[in-house]
Amino acid sequence: MASRARRLAAQLRDLRDAAAAFPDALVLLDDAGRVRWINRAATRLLGLAWPGDRGVLLAERLQGSRLGDWLRSGEARADDIPAPADAEIRVNASLIAFGHGQRVLRARDITELARLDQVRRDFVANVSHELRTPLTVIHGYLELLDPDEVPALAPVIAEMRTQSRRMGQIVEDLLTLSRLEMKRSLPDEHVATAPMFATIRKEAEALSQGRHRIVLEDSAHCDLLGSPKDLHSAFSNLVSNAVRYTPTGGEIVMRWRRTPTGAEFSVTDTGYGIPAEHLARLTERFYRVSSSRSRGTGGTGLGLSIVKHVLNLHQARLAIASEPGKGSTFACQFDQARLLEAGGDAA
Ligand code: ADP
Repeated sequence: MASRARRLAAQLRDLRDAAAAFPDALVLLDDAGRVRWINRAATRLLGLAWPGDRGVLLAERLQGSRLGDWLRSGEARADDIPAPADAEIRVNASLIAFGHGQRVLRARDITELARLDQVRRDFVANVSHELRTPLTVIHGYLELLDPDEVPALAPVIAEMRTQSRRMGQIVEDLLTLSRLEMKRSLPDEHVATAPMFATIRKEAEALSQGRHRIVLEDSAHCDLLGSPKDLHSAFSNLVSNAVRYTPTGGEIVMRWRRTPTGAEFSVTDTGYGIPAEHLARLTERFYRVSSSRSRGTGGTGLGLSIVKHVLNLHQARLAIASEPGKGSTFACQFDQARLLEAGGDAA
């Protein structure tokens, strides 16, 4: 009996030692949010002391820090916030529930990851920026060339123009993505939806050139709070995809309607559709179901990444439903807090 107790005690000690040595900060909280136990990293990252902080209310102890604000907000996760003990250290934090109302707070040091991500972002932004000027020059000279003067070169000149325009579009899309990635929020303005949807519909008709039936249904009759330029770009990306991935004779329906939690702008097409295994990856940069089809229709492979970033900055979500051979629906779902009375106040 005594040896069993000793074995159990040793096992418990091992578990506690392993948790103490864990590189993530761990704080065990009781059902009232009081500290029951912390590991060593919790001292380095959160500035907690042991046993001095045993029994204190963690949200109060961390008051005034972003982590403290997050604890009080009741949200499950906090990404990339400064560590309370050292603002140079960035952490991701989450609360994991266990037992009867108890929770573990876990904070992970992501300083190095965040730095590498910043290096990657800067690199992409700089490369795109550096490519812009030479591309503009090449494009300018190509426009000056008159194919009629050298008919033999006419197809070559036409192809060079198409490709230089494509490169220009990729660079512009990469710069747009870099700009969006650097932001934590966008300007909140009153976005009049009716004229915006009417413009997007006209743009879609110009792109389709009569090859599709394009329908706009507006039953929401409300406006949005957000960035007009970025929302326009996100919505028109979805509509232009629908035109580009729907064969001649197909139908494209743009719908703006209320939902139980807010409102939704969706674009439904009767196009090629997308096999289920691709859906989760569609918003990754340069991810394409079929490269040749995307390039053939003038795609850069960045459209849906831009859509996702714009929606994230509006706390909105992109829902995708699709059936190969039947068509797809891309829906932008906004919360009630983002809705405004058409022409006036909160809807
Ligand atoms: P692209 O410039 O290649 O269209 P996007 O990021 O806009 O890039 O879209 C990524 C991929 O998702 C596309 O290459 C295409 O394979 C697929 N896709 C997007 N929209 C549709 C749609 N409406 N119907 C079918 N496939 C689509």
